[in-house]
Formats: sequence, C-alpha cells, structure tokens
Amino acid sequence: MEFLMKNILVINCGSSSLKYQLINMENEEPLAKGLFERIAIPGSKLTHEPIGKDKYVVEKDVKDHTEAIALVFEALTDKDHGVIKDASEIAAVGHRVVQGGVKYPDSVVIDDEVKAEIKKYCDLAPLHNPANLMGIEAVEKAMPGITNVAAFDTSFGMGMPEKAYKYAIPSEYYDKYHIRRYGFHGTSHMYVSQEAIKFAGLDKDTARVIVCHLGNGASISASIGGKCIDSSMGLTPLEGLIMGTRSGDIDPAIVQYICDKENRSVDEVLNILNKKSGVLGMSGGISSDFRDIENAAADGNKLAEVALEAFRYRIIKYVGAYIAAMGGVDAICFTAGVGENDKETRRIVGNAFGYLGAKIDDNANNVRGKRTMISTPDSKVKLILMPTNEELAIARDAYRLAKK
Ligand code: ADP
Repeated sequence: MEFLMKNILVINCGSSSLKYQLINMENEEPLAKGLFERIAIPGSKLTHEPIGKDKYVVEKDVKDHTEAIALVFEALTDKDHGVIKDASEIAAVGHRVVQGGVKYPDSVVIDDEVKAEIKKYCDLAPLHNPANLMGIEAVEKAMPGITNVAAFDTSFGMGMPEKAYKYAIPSEYYDKYHIRRYGFHGTSHMYVSQEAIKFAGLDKDTARVIVCHLGNGASISASIGGKCIDSSMGLTPLEGLIMGTRSGDIDPAIVQYICDKENRSVDEVLNILNKKSGVLGMSGGISSDFRDIENAAADGNKLAEVALEAFRYRIIKYVGAYIAAMGGVDAICFTAGVGENDKETRRIVGNAFGYLGAKIDDNANNVRGKRTMISTPDSKVKLILMPTNEELAIARDAYRLAKK
C-alpha cells in the first residue's frame, strides 16, 4: 500500500518550552513552525507561524506539556491559522532526545523499552532527557496510536571506534556506567556531513568530512563515508571546544583546585565550567554571544580579543587532529550560529589549512546562512558553509521509520 500521509511533526521539548515544526516530506519544506514558552509557569505563550500566513499568538496558561501539545494541535488544525485539517494528516512525530545511551546508533520507534532507556540516562542529561520524555508522553496522550520516533543527539557518535570513544580510565567504569565519549549535536553533524557530500559531489562511501558546529554550544566531528569516527563532545557536552559559556577541554585537576581555593563543591565548580566559562568567562563576563565578544575585541578589549583567538585556535587544533586521524580531509564544513554567520572565523580556520592546499574564496565567503562553496575552485579541500537543519534530519528519520 502506498504511504499517503506525508507530514511529520518534529518536537524539541525543553523543561518549560517546546519547539515544533510540521514538515511536508514531499518537498521537505515546513508547513508551520512554533514555540511554546513558559510551560507550567504563569504567562504561558504559544507563537505559531503557519508558513506564508501571519503569526498567531495564544496567551493561555498551561499546567503541563500535555496541555501545551493540545494547544499546538489546535493551532495546527485551526480553520484560520492551521495548515492541516486534522491529526490524521500527520504520519508520525519525531522527538529530539539528547541522550540515548549506547543502545541506539540510529533513530528508533518509541515503545515502553525505549522510554525506559531514555529514563535510564536522565542522570547523564538531567536538563534534557526528562523534558524530552515529557514531550513524548504528552503526544502519546494527545494523539493515541500515532508513531513516535526518537532521534538521539548521541546516535551519530555511536559510529566512533573504541579507540576514539574510550577514556583512559579504569575499564570497569565503562563496563558499569558506560562512561565514554558520546558526541552530541549528532543530528546536526549527520545532516551537515550528508548534505555536504551531496553538495560537493564527494564519494558517499569514502568522503572524509569535518563538521564544525559552532553555536552557543560548539562541537566538531570527523566522519568517513558518513560514519562518525571522532567527535569533540564527551560524556556530556562540556568537553571539547571553547563555547559561549562552557570551558571545553581543561585539566580535570582544575576542578579540585578551584574547590579547595574557593571553598566550593564539585557541583558548584561544574556549574561554573558549564555556565560561567567559555568566552563569557574568558572575557571577564562581557557576554556569551560571539557578536558581543567580536565587538568588544574590535574596540580593543584585550580579554575579548584573547577569548576570540582562543576559540578559533581550539577549533583549528581539533580540525588538525581530525585531519591527521583520517589521513587527510575532503571537506571542512561550517554550521550553526557562528559557523553560518561569522565569515572571519571561517576565513581564519580555512586559511589555517593553507599548508594542505585549502584556499578560502573571500568573495564567496562573504555570505551568511546560505549553503555555499566558500573555497576557490582549485582548493585541495572543499570549504563549505552548510546551514544545519536538525528538524529536517529528525523528520527524515521519523518518515523513514514510520513507512516501515
Ligand atoms: P545554539 O543553538 O547553540 O543556542 P546557535 O547555533 O543559534 O546556538 O548560535 C547562536 C550564536 O551564534 C550566538 O551566541 C551568536 O554568538 C552567534 N552568532 C550569530 N550571528 C553571528 C555573527 N554575525 N557573528 C558572530 N557570531 C554570531
């Protein structure tokens, strides 16, 4: 039987917010997008954007995610602001889930066992997994019988070989707790690497691709033929690059040293490393937003200048390491807020690999948010601006699995 329903609802649920997109999989274009804010907090607000029509705002307090989802369905099917007649026009719902543990190298149709696994990993992603589960359970209540699919931020990282994902700590900790490198932003890394292979006409089985996902949270992955071989984020998203507020790699002994010197608990110091470090901390508290850091550096603020240099230097180190790990590189891609908008970071990183024959095309690089080959035609490495689209990546998986 032909699979007739062609729309996928993608949900990204936070503890008090819910982002959604309804995507028509025939042309992979969104029909509507929206954001529910302040769920279970006075002042709840739904902003629904049917594509091609005016925004529609509903200000109505909701006590939980189930009530929020019900209002989202009302908006989607509203006779004036809606884009579908009823829920039967939705083939499946794709949920972003941050931590899937070691069991899921791919997205999966959600059943009780999958929910139990998501729950099991709540302690590793305490801000995200419980909220992701709330979203799943809310949809189960609001749309009984619909196929729900979980797309994990960790699935792409499951491709890493043991030598890349294992930490050099006693092996019992892997056996008991699965302490390993997971590599987050997996949906983005997978999407961008696959799209880059198509866009640059590379061999889908052998292409060596590095993706720099540079947003507020930032990570780098290396993949060969679409299979992740290394990724900069670790057991949690704290490891790797310098980010807006996260430190990225540090000597772990720093944690105890700050605890002792400042009379703080490990929890407090980890909070500092997650929320008060990165370019925010390095700049002496100016901002976690890279635009503010760039402006401050341009105005001659020394700390901001060093923060920016360190941010870019760390990216170059990771890219260099991954090129060595793969024995070369065919494409280096830039994505997310900084990667898509900041030509200077792309120029500096691209030019750092001039010794390998990478050549940035300054004219082509003078662009924002649009998929573009930003290297010169004779560059030995393709440099690509590839906007990420995590919602579409999730929708593709949900569509594929719902059809089975
Ligand atoms: P996340 O999804 O991790 O919150 P985004 O991918 O939306 O982050 O990226 C947000 C970041 O992108 C902002 O913090 C901002 O610093 C950065 N950004 C956006 N535009 C620019 C720009 N023109 N130049 C430099 N940085 C930018």
